[in-house]
Amino acid sequence: MPIYEYHCKGCGHDFEYLVLGGSEPDHCPSCNTSKVCRLMSTCGFVTKGSGGQTVGKSASSSSCTGCSASSCAGCGH
Ligand SMILES: [Zn+2]
Repeated sequence: MPIYEYHCKGCGHDFEYLVLGGSEPDHCPSCNTSKVCRLMSTCGFVTKGSGGQTVGKSASSSSCTGCSASSCAGCGH
């Protein structure tokens, strides 16, 4: 069973949701807004520091070793 982690842009609440039959949550269980997005795909994987603040995104996406761009299209590597 695929369990995805979602993030609410309305109140900042993170929650896990068991996706059954491809149905996804359309509202936040905390504040009931529809401003939810799936982490790791829609929002990108965000690493949180010890203080809970966002410190940056992981380099899970392919990054070029020759430049700091997220793809190799920029520098020709
Ligand atoms: Zn919320």
